[in-house]
Amino acid sequence: MDQPTRADDVVEQNTSQAVIAGVLAALCLILGIVFIAYGSLSLAGWVLVTIGLALTVFAAFRLIQNKQIPIEKLGCPYCQFQNTLTAKPEKDIMCRSCGRMIPIENGVILPTYHIKCKECGKDNFFSRRTIKLICEDCGKEVNLDNVRNMIQ
Ligand SMILES: [Zn+2]
Ligand SMILES: [Zn+2]
Repeated sequence: MDQPTRADDVVEQNTSQAVIAGVLAALCLILGIVFIAYGSLSLAGWVLVTIGLALTVFAAFRLIQNKQIPIEKLGCPYCQFQNTLTAKPEKDIMCRSCGRMIPIENGVILPTYHIKCKECGKDNFFSRRTIKLICEDCGKEVNLDNVRNMIQ
């Protein structure tokens, strides 16, 4: 299964489409009304007003859609950021805030642990699925041999 879409992305996309449609609608309506007021171009004016109204409906529809997006919250175990998705993730997914991979198994976040890097003292995170842990700060490998037994 594909990763669920990020709810923020869908909202962003819908909103930008609504804004563009809204601006175009306003232009069509203003021009249309001006044309109608001048009489000789009134047919073109009505066409523009119709397009303007259609765009308004489209923009409204997009904004209503934003309210109906299913929101699935996924709290990052590392930085506590709440990732918003449109469905529960089936597999590991990257946190939008800290960029770390959140380990997922059967739709649940695996327990994560932290260990200090011997070289630089930086706290690094791992789960029981981590095969090799590379320090985020200094890039050296953090030895997990001693801790691995505890988390199996
Ligand atoms: Zn995070
Ligand atoms: Zn380090």
